[in-house]
Amino acid sequence: MANENLLLDLKEFALKKIAAEKYPNDYHWIKIFRCDICGITPLRIKLEHHAGYRLGSSISNDFVGIFWGTCTKCDKKIKFFSITNEYSKTVRVEYPKCGKCGNDAFYVLECERYEGENGLKGFFDEGIVVGKCSECNTLMVIVQTD
Ligand SMILES: [Zn+2]
Ligand SMILES: [Zn+2]
Repeated sequence: MANENLLLDLKEFALKKIAAEKYPNDYHWIKIFRCDICGITPLRIKLEHHAGYRLGSSISNDFVGIFWGTCTKCDKKIKFFSITNEYSKTVRVEYPKCGKCGNDAFYVLECERYEGENGLKGFFDEGIVVGKCSECNTLMVIVQTD
């Protein structure tokens, strides 16, 4: 089983990709995606992309849909989050693979930025989900949300 130190580079990568240094007063929250049973293990990811309107984001790369992960140790399928509405439906399913070695299992974490107010956590601004290939350690952005 991995420990959190193994994911320090992935945390740094997420903070860099979300440009944390430009928002020194905001609150950045990091959540490692883990299996309830096995803890931090590589996950096989399934992205269920949904179509559907989102206010103010007609042209955007932001993820709409459901983020699934399957634990590589116990095969448990976990719904990590969903961004859907009553009009949304599945248009495409994606199984992300490492661009370097083709492996499909990643350590995954999410970084979310909240507007900071006197050190308190304010409104959600944007988020990013990143992965680290369990075979070759390549870091990649999996989805962005806002
Ligand atoms: Zn598990
Ligand atoms: Zn790889």
